[in-house]
Order: sequence, then structure tokens, then C-alpha cells
Amino acid sequence: MASKLKPGVQTGTDYIALVDACKAGGYALPAVNVVNTDSINAVLEAAAKAKSDIIIQLSGGGAQFYAGKGIKDAEKAKVLGGISAAEHVHRVAEAYGICAVLHTDHANRALIPWVDALIDAGEERFKATGRALFSSHMLDLSEESLEDNISECERILKRLAPIGMSLEIELGVTGGEEDGVGKDLDEIDNDKLYTQPDEVLTAYRRLSPLGHFSVAAAFGNVHGVYKPGNVKLRPEILKASQEAVSSAEGTGNHPLHFVFHGGSGSEKAKIKEAVSYGVFKMNIDTDTQFAFAERVGSYVEEHARAFKYQIDPETDKPYKKQYDPRAWLRKGEEGIIDRLIIACDDLGSTGRSLAL
Ligand SMILES: [Zn+2]
Repeated sequence: MASKLKPGVQTGTDYIALVDACKAGGYALPAVNVVNTDSINAVLEAAAKAKSDIIIQLSGGGAQFYAGKGIKDAEKAKVLGGISAAEHVHRVAEAYGICAVLHTDHANRALIPWVDALIDAGEERFKATGRALFSSHMLDLSEESLEDNISECERILKRLAPIGMSLEIELGVTGGEEDGVGKDLDEIDNDKLYTQPDEVLTAYRRLSPLGHFSVAAAFGNVHGVYKPGNVKLRPEILKASQEAVSSAEGTGNHPLHFVFHGGSGSEKAKIKEAVSYGVFKMNIDTDTQFAFAERVGSYVEEHARAFKYQIDPETDKPYKKQYDPRAWLRKGEEGIIDRLIIACDDLGSTGRSLAL
């Protein structure tokens, strides 16, 4: 039985305990991309309803949107939005009674200054409160050489470890793009779509002495949702990497902490299999985006006149209650919540929250 944790944002040894509990318990947590307080609160509410712990994450574009499209300096907005969103979660997560993890998503070379600036803010917060801003950041240098990828990961992990933070790295390329980072499937060499066990071993040897890290491994997963048959998931790639590291390094079973990118639209059996090979985090964005949009769309269709007139010109009926943003934003939130309750079931995290 895993030990219990105080509800709210988890960092340092508490975050590591959460990752270990997932792997030992054979389940994984949804990691959901958010862009504003609506999506953050919906994710937290879903976790509370499912009694599951949860991962909240922001891409560079999501963080920029959080701060506002009106800020002219986009780089500055990414930093301010990232800090602001994380502080919002620190403020409210505990009240939902579950454990929350704060993460950033895909930072390629161009986004590394963003990550460094968030680490600066994390160091400041750690000094003041003993808790960093985020639980973990992600670097995605999978399109560069292995050496360039790993050496930059080393530099960042050396900054993260002293403030109780983890690093997610990417080896092999996840197809499709996530918020402007990545390439279409037909532009990627086929062998890059599947992570090579020897690359994972190199990463393990160089990063594990420095701190805690996780690996976004490519096993045919793709961002976005495509027609069935276009994506061939091969979770056995994850098993081969775990075995390569455990036999070469003499570690116990499943030394690697794997992240499943492009979880939207994946077959349930393949999700289960991937989790059984040490996946503790599955990213989901496309499906929650659609769940939000679909519910708002239905609401607008149903109340079409309220989105045209403040007072109906024929009946004199005032529509204030229908166009109040709380009415239709809530429908979108409910869409996210319902989709995530399914995700928690698929990943086996329902009812497994470690929160006291
Ligand atoms: Zn991704």
C-alpha cells in the first residue's frame, strides 16, 4: 500500500512517490493540456470525481494564451502565463482533495529560454516556500542528434534536481505536432518513430546520476486523432527498453518512467499494455479540446437566438441567463470532465488517489 500524500501540488520526493505508486500499482495518470482557468478547474474537478490524482500541463502556446494574446512580447507572455497558471493550481488544487502534478509540455530548442525562465521562477519559489513552481519540465530535442539532446537534458536536469523537480525527455519522435512542435508523419524517418533501446540506455547512464527523469518514448504514437489504421502502436518497444536497461545496469524491474504522448484516440488494449510496461503518464489534449468544443457547440445550437439578441425582437424575451459565459463555459467544462473520467478508467487511476 503506497503511503498517503497531502492533497495539492506534488514536487520532490512526494512527486517521486506518486510516480512509483503508479508503476507499482499498474496504473497511469492522465496529463491534460490546459489553456485557462476553465480547463484547469475542469481537470481538477474530474480528478476529484474520479478520486484519481492528475497531471496538469501547459505547452508554450498554452502558457502564452493563459497570460493573454494581448501581450505584445510573446516570449514574455509564455513565461508570465506559465507562472500564473502554476500559481493558480498551487492555490486551488488542495481544495479538490487530490494530488496534482504540474508539468510543461514539448519544449524544442526554440523554447528552451522559456524553460530556463520558468526554472528561474521555480528557484525563487523554492527559496521562499520550499516547493518549486512545477513538478517537472519537458524537453523535446528528439529531432537533434542524441548527443545534442542528452547534453542539453543534462544541463537542465542539473538545474532542476536541487529544487526537487524532475525532467521529461523525448527519445524518438512522436508523430504529428503538438502546438507547433513536431512534424507530419510522412516527414519523419521510419526508424525515428520507434525509440531505440540503446539510446534509452545511453540516456539512463548519463541522466540517472543527476536526478529524476522520465522518458517520452516513441512506439508509433501520434499527436492528434486520425482515421483508425493510420497509427500502429507497438508497446513492446517500451518493454524492450526496460529490459535493455535493467539487464545492462542490474537494476530492478522497470527502471524507466515512461510517458505516452498522443494518447487521444488510442485503443484501450494498447493503452493497458503500455501501462504494464512502465508508463505512468499519458498525455491527452486533442480529445479534451473536442469534448469542450462539442458541448459548447450543442449549447449554442440549442440557444441560437441568445447568441444573436440580448432581447428577442419577436418575443421581447431577455436572454441574459443563456449568454452569461458561466452557462456555456460550464457546458464545456462538463465535456472535459466526462472525457477525463473515461481516461481515468482507461488508465486504471480511478479511485487510486494517494491524497490523505
Ligand atoms: Zn506530446
